[in-house]
Amino acid sequence: MIKYDQTDNSFQEDLRRRVTRYFTASKKLQTGNWRLYLKSAILFSSVFVCYRYIVFVPTASWITLVLCALLGALFSLIGFNIMHDASHGSYSKRKWINFAMGLSLEMMGNSSYLWKRKHNIIHHTYTNTAEDDDIDLPPFLRIRSDQPKRWFHKYQHYYAPALYAILYLYWVWYTDFKKYFTRKIGGHAIPPMRWWEHGIFWSSKLFHGTVMIAIPIEHFGEWALLGYAVFALTCGFIISIVFQLAHVVEGADFPTPDETGVIRSSWAVEQVRTTSNFAQKSVIAFWLFGGLNHQIEHHLFPKIAHVHYRKIAKIVRSACAEYGITYSSLPLGKAIASHFRMLKACGNN
Ligand SMILES: [Zn+2]
Repeated sequence: MIKYDQTDNSFQEDLRRRVTRYFTASKKLQTGNWRLYLKSAILFSSVFVCYRYIVFVPTASWITLVLCALLGALFSLIGFNIMHDASHGSYSKRKWINFAMGLSLEMMGNSSYLWKRKHNIIHHTYTNTAEDDDIDLPPFLRIRSDQPKRWFHKYQHYYAPALYAILYLYWVWYTDFKKYFTRKIGGHAIPPMRWWEHGIFWSSKLFHGTVMIAIPIEHFGEWALLGYAVFALTCGFIISIVFQLAHVVEGADFPTPDETGVIRSSWAVEQVRTTSNFAQKSVIAFWLFGGLNHQIEHHLFPKIAHVHYRKIAKIVRSACAEYGITYSSLPLGKAIASHFRMLKACGNN
């Protein structure tokens, strides 16, 4: 198990003090607010209306396919804005609301039980290390120099978008089951599920299969599978690219532990080094991506709801400057270009 050298935690302690001071002075809760709840209502009702139009309102085939892509995009936004915060426990101060909103991942056909372990624990603790399951797609993608190089990696900057697109299907119909049956995520054992957690897992797969595949097939025949593919590929691509832009760009650190298994810097410093913000000035990107364009703030303060990241970014940026830690932030276009340049470099060197 990888460990961080925590002998000097001054950056983390100082930053926490400053951020706590901000919340105390502004008399704000660190959890979600009415803006987040309004956004949730907009997203959930948009999903409902979109699905209804696709399945129950007769229209031209091409419009149905456009709506399928829109539904995929809406699912990814629910993942970024609602499920992600709720799974971290930051959506609401009430535990049951976080649990209920975390189940939006079950609506998407995935397991929030497995996500909380894979993302909250493994990705947020071991960011960009060999143990990080969120950014890795071995053996198809090579993003770290310590990963074995295969002949096809030199083309990975060409085929990565296709891989990103199929990720959601792979997640719903393969990796969730693999983790469920092996009871492992990478090398990490998963604590045993309780009976009702098994029930939620199977119900979500059944719900997804019924609502997203069986009911549309009843209405459209096998052509429904084309609509499902358009929906799932759109959702997968958006989810993957947003997560990748935060960690797999030029300049991001991919720490390797020494022979004793220790990374020679503190956890908080490493969170900034392994992470990059993008489109930080864009209010639209912030609204759409649920603050995942502010991943530095998210990684330092995963228990603070994303609606606060724009405000605390100023505190984080100035603390990083004082402590001499590079705070990486790119415009959207440059972040995308940097990601693909990095894939090309990793596939060729
Ligand atoms: Zn997170």
